Amino acid sequence: MSRLELTGVTHAYGVGSARREVLTDLSVTLTEPRIGVVGANGSGKSTFARLLNGLVVPTRGTVSVDGLDTRTHAKDVRRRVGFCFTDPDAQIVMPTVQEDVGFGLRRRMSKSQVAERVAAVLETYGLAGHADHPTHLLSGGQKQLLALVSVLVTEPSVLVLDEPTTLLDLRNTRRVAETVAGLPQQVVMVTHDLDLLDDFDRVLVFDRARLVLDGSPSEALAHYRALMGA
Ligand code: ADP
Repeated sequence: MSRLELTGVTHAYGVGSARREVLTDLSVTLTEPRIGVVGANGSGKSTFARLLNGLVVPTRGTVSVDGLDTRTHAKDVRRRVGFCFTDPDAQIVMPTVQEDVGFGLRRRMSKSQVAERVAAVLETYGLAGHADHPTHLLSGGQKQLLALVSVLVTEPSVLVLDEPTTLLDLRNTRRVAETVAGLPQQVVMVTHDLDLLDDFDRVLVFDRARLVLDGSPSEALAHYRALMGA
């Protein structure tokens, strides 16, 4: 597993009177295979997730992946840490399923190698019959799965998923959950669906820009429920 390390991290958006601190003095080291992140809307979870692959660099403090600082080694970090957005439309960039899956490989492989690799992963994830399907005609669940596959095909060692099931019905939620469960990669998942975190090794609970609990899924669930008054 990779070592994801945040040291004295504070992050703020905006400047001057518009400055808003969304993460405050966070230090945490993550090495477990399965890490969950929960918390109320606006508590800083997405920002935390984005810090892990350098999509966001901290206002103060450092974030590193296997010793590589996200500020100075952005490219290496992004190669190691794949990121899936809540909204798959934010990352589906090509007109057909197979082109989208191959998109991230174009610079690393020849055309025939890309085609071979794409065909293999589409088969693995049950999308082989959809290779030529226009991406804009896919259902929400298919899009979410495609976004995941398009990241997985680039073989990141860590996968960061920001609320990957928010748009999905129960069946597609299960599908994504099963796909994620079977992955050899390290996974960091932000979610409101606590059932997805049952088998996770560690769960972080955020509240108003701070990490307020770092424990087992059952500890996190109890704390999160209490925070939400549920
Ligand atoms: P969560 O994922 O827990 O909902 P976020 O990390 O998305 O929390 O957001 C934390 C706070 O930061 C929210 O108040 C949000 O409005 C604000 N925020 C997030 N992204 C930006 C941005 N790019 N510019 C300004 N404010 C932002």
